[in-house]
Order: sequence, then C-alpha cells, then structure tokens
Amino acid sequence: LPSPAIEAQQDVPKSNSRAAIQRLEDQFYVSTVQLQDMVKLFVHDMQRGLKRENALIKMLPSYVTKRPTGNERGTYLALDLGGTNFRVCEVTFATGQVRTKQRKFTVSDELKTGPGHLLFDFFADCVALFLDENGIPRDTNMKLGFTFSFPCHQEALNRGRLIRWTKGFTASGVVGEDVVKLLQDAFHRKGLSINVTALVNDTVGTLISHAYIDPLTQAGIILGTGSNAAYVERISEIKKWDGPKSASNEMVINMEWGNWGSDKIALPLTAYDLKVDRASPNPGQQLYEKMISGMYLGEITRYIMLDLISTGELFRGQRSVELEKPYNFDTANMSRIERDHTTDMSDTNMLLKTVYNIDSTLKDRRNLKQICQLVSTRAARLAAVGISAIVTKTNRLNGATVGIDGSVYEHYQHFGNHVKDALRELLGMVAQNVTLAQGEFLRCDG
Ligand code: BGC
Ligand code: MG
Repeated sequence: LPSPAIEAQQDVPKSNSRAAIQRLEDQFYVSTVQLQDMVKLFVHDMQRGLKRENALIKMLPSYVTKRPTGNERGTYLALDLGGTNFRVCEVTFATGQVRTKQRKFTVSDELKTGPGHLLFDFFADCVALFLDENGIPRDTNMKLGFTFSFPCHQEALNRGRLIRWTKGFTASGVVGEDVVKLLQDAFHRKGLSINVTALVNDTVGTLISHAYIDPLTQAGIILGTGSNAAYVERISEIKKWDGPKSASNEMVINMEWGNWGSDKIALPLTAYDLKVDRASPNPGQQLYEKMISGMYLGEITRYIMLDLISTGELFRGQRSVELEKPYNFDTANMSRIERDHTTDMSDTNMLLKTVYNIDSTLKDRRNLKQICQLVSTRAARLAAVGISAIVTKTNRLNGATVGIDGSVYEHYQHFGNHVKDALRELLGMVAQNVTLAQGEFLRCDG
C-alpha cells in the first residue's frame, strides 16, 4: 500500500500531469477520417506489392493454391517458430477428429542473435527429443510442415529464402538462405530422416487451419509478438506472378503487412514511435508492426513513462533503474494495468513497487492506465486499417471470415472490441459481415 506521505503529496502536484495526458491524447488519438485515409493508402500499397518485387508491402506468393476441405487424412510433423517459442507437434487427421501431441521450447536470446547454424541445430535437437519421447524412430521419413514466422521469398511450397529477420532475431548466416535447406541440413547432422515438405508463414497457417473448419475463411491475421496477415487472392490480380496458373485460380498471399508505413508517410508516428524504431535491431523497417504488436507496445509505453518522469509529470520524477532497461516493460503489464479495477489500483501499485521499485500515487496509477489505453487503443484501431484494406481490396462486402490469432488479440482485454469498433467506423454496415474468428483450431496443445 502507498505510504500516507505519498498519498498526501498527490493533492499538491508539482506539475500539471493533466496537461501531459492531454498532450499524449492529442498525439495518440486517431480519428475515423485519418483511419479512412490510411485504408486508401493501404489498398494502394497492396496493389503495388502485387505488381513489383520491391514494394513496401511485399505481398509474397505462398504457393498455397487450395484451402483445406476438412477431408485431409494422415499423420504429420509440424514445427512452429514464432516470436518467442518453438513448438514441435505431431498432428493426425482422422475421420471426424484431429489429434495432436506437442512440446514447447523457449528460444533463448543467445540463439536468436547468435550463429544461425546453432539455431537450426537447436531445432533439430528439439525434434530428436520429441521423437524419442514419443517412441517415434529417428529415421521415420515422416513429412514435416515448417511454420516459420518471418518474411520468406518462396520459390516453391518447400523452398523459401529469408528476406530479413524481424521481432528481435538477428541470427547470422540465415538471411538470403533457403530456411528449408538449413533445417534439412541440421536434421542430417543429427541423423534424423524427415522430409520438410512445406514452409508456411504463421498467417498462412492461421488461414489454413481456420479454413479446415470454415472453408469460406478469406484471411489469417496475427496480432502477437509481431503482426502480419495473409489472404486469398485471385491469380489474375497478382501481376508479378509468372509461375503456373493453378486450377483454383487463387493463391494465398503472405502480405508481410508489418512493414507498411516504413516510408514514414502514411502512419501517424509520434516521437516515441521514432525512438522505439531507432533503438530497435531493425531501424527503418516494420514501422506498422512497431505500432501494433506485442513486442513494441510495452516499449512505446516505457518511453512515454521515462519522458513523463523526466518532466516530473509522473511518479514525481522518481527514476527507476529497471524501467530504464530496454524492453523491460512488457505489453502484458499494460493489459494487467488496464484490467486493474480496484479503487486504489492496488495491483498496479504492487507491480510498480515490486518490479520497478517505484512509489506511486493513485493519480500516477490512473494516469498510467490512461497511457496504456491510449497506446493499446491506437494499436487496435491501426490494426483495423489493415483488415479493412483486405476486405476492400477483395471486395468482400457481403461477408468474410478472418482467422485471427496471437497473444495480443487473445490476452489483451478489449483489444478485439477496439478493432471491431474501428472496423464499424471504416466499413459501416459491411463490418457486420466480417467475422473475426479467434483461436487456432488445430491447436498443438495435446
Ligand atoms: C513477420 C511475419 C509474421 C509476423 C507474425 C512479423 O514480424 O515478419 O512473417 O507473420 O511477425 O508472427
Ligand atoms: Mg505463433
């Protein structure tokens, strides 16, 4: 509990914290008109990406030309490298059911930023462990699908060169290489015989797994550590495509929308966003992602807090060593603070005290809650821009099902409601026909 001395101080603020919040509101509020203008630019940039290789939104052909029918059968292995975790799964598609076994591993910062071959050795070691534990021989020859949540230039369903790392990964020797080959080579080094038959982005995986249940699924969206979307496009619209026409005449496009706005024209960037970008491992890239995804929302908030501490407008200017460490204010803290509905915000008080050694007044905590709301609401509204652009571009005015996944969408309370509110502002009546279907249907959680 706050000490009486501190509580007493709150009536005599040294500076006007209200003005600070007002200032932030002016910077972080995005109006309907602004959102509408952004959708127009977004659709335009999607079209550019479908025409040429070096566009802001890459619009990468995935080589997935069919959506599942629900009649798929067999047992497969699946690997999922996301933002934080690496999962190994065995999936069995049988009549009327899908059975999964899985094991989750954490990818350490050393592996994320070290030599690439060690990262791929780690993947192979995890797979070997999984096989041993489940009594599957190492020479199984099973087929494996690799969900790899980074931008890859695919040359086949099972071939793709990493364009660049995102989300804090910097492992060397991987950019420009075919990640399927790197994985296959690591399997050989460890004596595993497994066939990597598909490389898919997580957004493509999300789209496909929702389509398994609802064949009309048009898009897959991830709002997690990073952010991106994939959607079903007509081949005739993919002007840069010179590969074979498919029987379905459609192709799933991995948009790589996280890089939208990196020319710094379309997005309402604040000084805080620019700071986050400049200090990131990939400055000048993934600007949209940096305003809407879990890796960065806490970081934006951290910079705002540091700023208001320096002006004396927050925590009466108390500095915190812990808060000054980069990326040391998780997005999960923000949702925890927003969920703190106690009259004295005691949970927030405890968080600030125990983790950051900050003594706060109730006023501070209320201000902090407002800051979190400003940052997260802006994120949700900006995410709606991308979704509206997909609906507009594909002209799905009478209905689209969008599979949506990721930690931010799943765990950040009200985030989904803010996305839906903004969709209504942008699409009007059409928004009613857009279903945001949450959760992985083919969850690998055993
Ligand atoms: C990556 C995408 C991925 C997204 C969500 C982004 O950083 O570039 O490929 O889909 O994160 O995981
Ligand atoms: Mg994931």
